[in-house]
Amino acid sequence: MSKEPAGVWNYVRGFENLSLCDWPGRSTCIIFLGGCNLHCPTCHNFELAWDMNALPPMDPVRIKAYIRDRAGWLDGITVTGGEPTIVPGVAELLFEIKKFGLPIKMDTNGMRPEVIKELLEYKLVDAFAVDIKGPWYKYPSLTGNAVSEIAAQANLARIFELAKANPEAFYFRTTQVPDLTDKDLAIAQAYLPLGYELTIQKFVPPRRKPEHAKPNHEERRPAGNVVN
Ligand code: SF4
Repeated sequence: MSKEPAGVWNYVRGFENLSLCDWPGRSTCIIFLGGCNLHCPTCHNFELAWDMNALPPMDPVRIKAYIRDRAGWLDGITVTGGEPTIVPGVAELLFEIKKFGLPIKMDTNGMRPEVIKELLEYKLVDAFAVDIKGPWYKYPSLTGNAVSEIAAQANLARIFELAKANPEAFYFRTTQVPDLTDKDLAIAQAYLPLGYELTIQKFVPPRRKPEHAKPNHEERRPAGNVVN
C-alpha cells in the first residue's frame, strides 16, 4: 500500500481470510485491530497490542472486497486485537462491515463495559468473547499492573449483567497461562452468571519475544494475508 488508510482503518493491522476454530461452529474471517489497554506479560500479540506501527496497515478496499465476495461462504466476521473496544471509531468500522450481512463476534478483555454495552445496543456486534484473566486478586500480575483487583471485578460485574440480559451474545474464556492453577480456573468459573461455562484455552507460548522483553500469550498472531 502506498499511503496509510484514513481513520479507524489505520488500526487494522492484520487480516486472516478464514478461521474454522475462532468462533465455534462457524467459519469466519478475522480483522485484527492494533492497540491494547492491558500489558499482559504472556501476550502473544504483543506487537499488535503495544507497537502496532511495527506492522504494516492493511488495504481497506481489499478487505471489504474480500468480505463482500465471500459473504455467501462465511458464517461471520471476528474482530479482535489487541483490544478492539479502545480503538477510536471502532463503531464506524463495525457499521461498514455490517453491511455485508454477516454476524460479527468481537474479542475483548472486558475492561470497557460501557463500549460493549453501546455496541450491543446499536446491534453492531452479535457476540462478545470475553476474557476472564483469572481470579480478581491475580489481575494486577496477569495484566502487567494495568488493572487493579477492584477495577477488574467492577468492570466484569457490568459485563455479567449484560450477559444475563443477553445470554446469546456472550462467551467467556480463560487462557491457562503458567501462573494459573486448576483452583484459579475453578474460581474464575464461579464468577460467571448461572448457565455459563468458562472455555479454557490452552496457553501457546509466543513464537518469539519482543526485544524489549515483555513476554508472551494466547492464540494467534495477525496473518496479514488477503486473498484477492
Ligand atoms: S493478552 Fe490480550 S488483553 Fe493482554 S495485552 Fe495481549 S492483547 Fe491485550
